[in-house]
Amino acid sequence: MSVLKKAGYFNTSLEREMSSSFQQHSPFVTTTIPLNHAYYRQFQIEPTLYQCFFEHSSDAMLIADADCKILHVNPAFAAITGYSLEESVGQTPHLLSSGVHNDSFYDQLWESLNQKGYWRGELVNKHKNGELFSIWQRINVIEDDNRQVLYYISSFSDISIIKNTERKLWQMAHLDSLSGLANRALFEQRLLQEIFAAKRSGQFGAVIFLDLDDFKKINDSLGHKYGDKVLQEVAKRLQTILRTEDTVARLGGDEFIILLSGLTHNLDDAEKMAGSVAQKVLDALLQVYLIDSQELQISASLGITLFSTAFDESTEKLLSQADIAMYAAKTEGKSTFSFYHPGMQEQANKRLSIETELRFALQNDQIILFYQPQYGSGHQLLGFEALVRWQHPEKGMISPDDFLPIAEETGLIIELGERILYLACHQLAAWHSQGFEVPHLAINISPVQFNHFNFVESVISALELTGVNPYAVMLEITESLIIKDVNEVIEKMRLLKQRGIRFSIDDFGTGYSSLAYLQRMPIDQLKIDRSFVQDITRNENDAALVNAIIAMAGSLKLDIIAEGVETFEQVDHLVGCGCNAFQGYWFSRPLPGAEVLAKLDKG
Ligand code: C2E
Ligand code: CA
Ligand code: CA
Repeated sequence: MSVLKKAGYFNTSLEREMSSSFQQHSPFVTTTIPLNHAYYRQFQIEPTLYQCFFEHSSDAMLIADADCKILHVNPAFAAITGYSLEESVGQTPHLLSSGVHNDSFYDQLWESLNQKGYWRGELVNKHKNGELFSIWQRINVIEDDNRQVLYYISSFSDISIIKNTERKLWQMAHLDSLSGLANRALFEQRLLQEIFAAKRSGQFGAVIFLDLDDFKKINDSLGHKYGDKVLQEVAKRLQTILRTEDTVARLGGDEFIILLSGLTHNLDDAEKMAGSVAQKVLDALLQVYLIDSQELQISASLGITLFSTAFDESTEKLLSQADIAMYAAKTEGKSTFSFYHPGMQEQANKRLSIETELRFALQNDQIILFYQPQYGSGHQLLGFEALVRWQHPEKGMISPDDFLPIAEETGLIIELGERILYLACHQLAAWHSQGFEVPHLAINISPVQFNHFNFVESVISALELTGVNPYAVMLEITESLIIKDVNEVIEKMRLLKQRGIRFSIDDFGTGYSSLAYLQRMPIDQLKIDRSFVQDITRNENDAALVNAIIAMAGSLKLDIIAEGVETFEQVDHLVGCGCNAFQGYWFSRPLPGAEVLAKLDKG
């Protein structure tokens, strides 16, 4: 303790001394101190003072002769580098060389020493145990009167902690913590560099936007932690197949982005190259994943946009173009890639405005239902199918084909579907309570809506809120559902069937559902698709198919209904095949709720 105190005292008194008498002559500033200067005389007189400073300094210190041979080092040197005094003396500072710095670095260092008499800077050294560490180093040259080098004195401190913190801060600012990939900020930095590089070189670069298909389903069904592992695995695969000079970043969620640079000067060739990378990515991601002993397969949709000399736009513009192209790949049926072209922008704008307006529409009662009657062969009313309409204040009545796909892609379908369920059940309950006989109301259910974890609850809640008779509610689902997770689908149907709800398979014959699965599902009705009905009187194949469907429905004890019936000949033909339920323009177009009353009988 007393030694430390003493050292502390000496250090501060020495500092004072240095600042007063060294300021003009300090070897740390100038190299021309006469050897008979008071500094050296004092050193002769009070060697213990300087020795104490040297021995107790927390900075490593080293004195070397004109040939750079180490004459002396202090204990801090040994502590920081791992080399003892005995091991160091006689060596050169090369002992600590890390190999990190190149020749030009050392050239500059020596130039400064030779011309200015000192050098200061950051350096990476190698510890005796092989580990690299960063130091802040000061080297001074001591010369005699004839400017002959006598000594080099150097002191340095370990700044590894500072450098590590710096690195961590950089990582936080530039890397995505989940995947370790670049984040959006770093990606945009690199993209900007590449845009300039492409301008200079005339070589094309490409931005590829990647979005996993149906990732939300994985998150919803297997949990976010599992979803994170999938994302990490995707990141790993992307890094493995791309070149080191390509940048791959995660934008967040299940969105990734890839930057390819220096492709070629020719647009066609550049497209081919980017396309083949995209295909490689698709193939790699499609390989089965084994995560937590669960196997799964996931695909992705990719959008590509190219840039070169002619590109004057921002990084944002490129990202948005690639995003738009990715979107096109999604609509093309996913698990594919597409290239951006200017026409896509217009479509994207339209989509965006529909999405915004649809949100507004939902909150402002612009979503209404039409009802299309269904009749038996004796022209008796069997029920209705509810068909959604968007009553737009300026654009008029918008058909579901123009907004449902957008609602499905944006997830708005969940809210929209709940509204439709409520409106339909509410209307049916109202008819019943007014004494009208409506045997059933069919309600269309989007596959996205059905697959949502909350689907069963949302139906039950509509039943309870409206007090409708569940036995009069028929849900129309499509075959596409059956391809996925049959057991889950069956379970949801079973829960609703317990309440009395019935199910119809819409557009039957157009999907590619396995009939074996169909047999396992608690279905009540098959709805023959309009496309078969349309050609039933003209096309023998369609007629044969309709015949087969009707026969199969009979053997599975399922009801059957034909939709899109437009002519008497079609009715006649269908009756001939044994079909006794119809829906179509021949009978009635879909009607607004108020007009339906005319079709209804009391009691
Ligand atoms: P969908 O379920 O097959 O509905 C039948 C469609 O055929 C309706 O078109 C209807 O207006 C039309 N249609 C009826 N009879 C005839 C006919 O004789 N000839 C012709 N050419 N067409 C006929 P809409 O209302 O435009 O609906 C289109 C599709 O939008 C529906 O096909 C359904 O897939 C979807 N959709 C409609 N309403 C809803 C809804 O409330 N929820 C969900 N999820 N989807 C709905
Ligand atoms: Ca339908
Ligand atoms: Ca249909």
